[in-house]
Amino acid sequence: MRRNGCLYIYRHESDFAGAAAGRSLRAELGVHQEVLTAEQVAGLEPRLADIEARGLYFPDSINVSDPKAMLARLAAAATARGVQLLRANVASLSAEASGVRLSGPGLGITARTVVIAAGARSRALATQAGDRIPLETERGYHLEFPTDTPLLNRPVCPIDLGFYMTPMDGRLRIAGTVELGGLVAPPNPRRLALLDRGVRQFFPELGRPSSEWLGFRPSLPDSRPVIGRSRRSPGVVHAFGHGHLGLTLAPITARLVADLIAGRGDPVYYQAFAPDRFSV
Ligand SMILES: Cc1cc2nc3c(=O)[nH]c(=O)nc-3n(C[C@H](O)[C@H](O)[C@H](O)COP(=O)(O)OP(=O)(O)OC[C@H]3O[C@@H](n4cnc5c(N)ncnc54)[C@H](O)[C@@H]3O)c2cc1C
Repeated sequence: MRRNGCLYIYRHESDFAGAAAGRSLRAELGVHQEVLTAEQVAGLEPRLADIEARGLYFPDSINVSDPKAMLARLAAAATARGVQLLRANVASLSAEASGVRLSGPGLGITARTVVIAAGARSRALATQAGDRIPLETERGYHLEFPTDTPLLNRPVCPIDLGFYMTPMDGRLRIAGTVELGGLVAPPNPRRLALLDRGVRQFFPELGRPSSEWLGFRPSLPDSRPVIGRSRRSPGVVHAFGHGHLGLTLAPITARLVADLIAGRGDPVYYQAFAPDRFSV
């Protein structure tokens, strides 16, 4: 985890003026943010010296240099503490007197407690637990370009283009956009082309991308996750729907889920995330 902040850049004064309400709200909430001149932006990010842009700097932001490597470390740490990892596709979930039954190809287990944390694919499992949750997916894309040396020192978001340029281990990742297109439709090449054209405004020398990706943000109508026990199947705990911030929010959700299962969760923390809040 790199603790070197993140940077918004505003190439048009109207965009900066239009974001005033966001800045006031963050200030009210105690978020550390600093408005930067174009010179200060260039000081933080020398490769952007030719870009005439005002900046908004968040010094407390943290970024992950390689999420896959981070997950592998988490898995290794859990395994070392006695957690058994089993990879399988859960096709069906049913609450029975003996517990919650999970089955799928090569899988058949009954558990006292099951946590549904299947991201954008959680809806079908939640439905089988008896909960109708209006989970949708906000699809997003990324492109990665191999880099010998980092082009940037921290994630940078050109606000007018709506994506992040993030230096990762050995590559620059360009990620963003929101597409309401469900789980089945194929990737839209125009979205990837948009990212490609956008990043070349800053780094025209980039070669061909080394990876293209379509991801599924699990999103709910009120932008809050669902964290709590199923009413219909009390052996099921829901933990999904973190939208644009699932990586950021995962640790606190894990704490809430662990406390809930251990019976020490303070109900006040769960109200806003109740699985039945959408029921009419
Ligand atoms: C372009 C883009 C940029 C993003 N940037 C950020 C960011 O900067 N910061 C941030 O915090 N978040 C970001 N996000 C959001 C973040 O990726 C998600 O919120 C997060 O991945 C959700 O985590 P999750 O564990 O709930 O779901 P996922 O990461 O989707 O994991 C769900 C897991 O469940 C498994 N699964 C699904 N169905 C089944 C089944 N039936 N049986 C067994 N396993 C199953 C899947 O294989 C997967 O491993 C971004 C998303 C996108 C698309």
